[in-house]
Amino acid sequence: MTDHANSRRPKRGSYRPKPETLALLQVSGNPINGVGETTPRRPSPFFWHPPDQHPWGGLQIVARESSRKCPGSVSAFQAAYNYPELIPVADVRSEQSPEQLSLNLMRVALEHEADDVGIAPMDPLYVFEGYTINEPWVIVLALAHNYERLKEVPSDETNGVGVCDVGDQYAKGTRSSYALANWIRSQGYNAHPYPGPSAGALALIPPAIAAGLGELGKHGSLISRHFGSGVRLAGVTTDMPLVATAPDRFGADEFCATCQICTNACPPGAILPQKQMVRGVERWYVDFDKCIPYFAEASSCGICIAECPWTRPSVRPKLLATMARRLDL
Ligand code: SF4
Ligand code: SF4
Repeated sequence: MTDHANSRRPKRGSYRPKPETLALLQVSGNPINGVGETTPRRPSPFFWHPPDQHPWGGLQIVARESSRKCPGSVSAFQAAYNYPELIPVADVRSEQSPEQLSLNLMRVALEHEADDVGIAPMDPLYVFEGYTINEPWVIVLALAHNYERLKEVPSDETNGVGVCDVGDQYAKGTRSSYALANWIRSQGYNAHPYPGPSAGALALIPPAIAAGLGELGKHGSLISRHFGSGVRLAGVTTDMPLVATAPDRFGADEFCATCQICTNACPPGAILPQKQMVRGVERWYVDFDKCIPYFAEASSCGICIAECPWTRPSVRPKLLATMARRLDL
């Protein structure tokens, strides 16, 4: 048990989904995610897409309701759904070079609440089935959690601190992605924002990894060298000519191979100890059928990202140094 464990966290193995939660589980989510498939394909729309688009829509409604029962969370998430207007694309295009436009774009993003920013060329595999994105570039924005607030998860009717920080980061992502899209439009190029927490056309973690914002952790979330697992994402797609940022390898993947902190902290035991083949890629994977019932009942959960040692500001620099030595990075 860590120094910041709290009484709202059931011990691993002691959690059982409520009967009404189990009644909503009609089909396994793992085949929908493509577990066991050896051929790459686009992801299927699933959790946080509109609830009538996937068979777990009923549980998604429960998840949303349980998070909104926590003090402060309604206004926190309302801010995330408060979309600014997009301006028309300017008639005259900036003639600056892709290098200069990329630098300017990153500066604008960091001036508008983004905590990190990366650029990746679009890959059709980033786009959910049934959606279309025509722009050739993806910009991914990282929004860092407040660790002191995040470690209060899970939330409930008595304590909404953790889930409110989730809502606050998504609200930052909405403001930041719209501000960046509008700046790009002011330069004469098209741009579309893709903030969370609702899912849209764009899957955000794969381009975030390609753009150097972090590595995939055993808990299925991004680990950033700057913020650990305490990070949320938003995206912007554009036809502005840009220069890609490089992937960042700092040893998170290798560290996960022997670390079991999130595995042991996860109440339903959903975090798988070995990588799985998922849509043609061998990667860390969380058992959807075990995670989501607890996630829905526990107001967004978040225990795995809060417990990850990379998330702890006092620990992260030591881990970076250790892994740099071990891997000769
Ligand atoms: S979010 Fe899911 S995987 Fe992470 S600790 Fe909670 S139940 Fe486990
Ligand atoms: S807690 Fe450990 S195993 Fe889990 S994601 Fe973090 S480093 Fe990886």
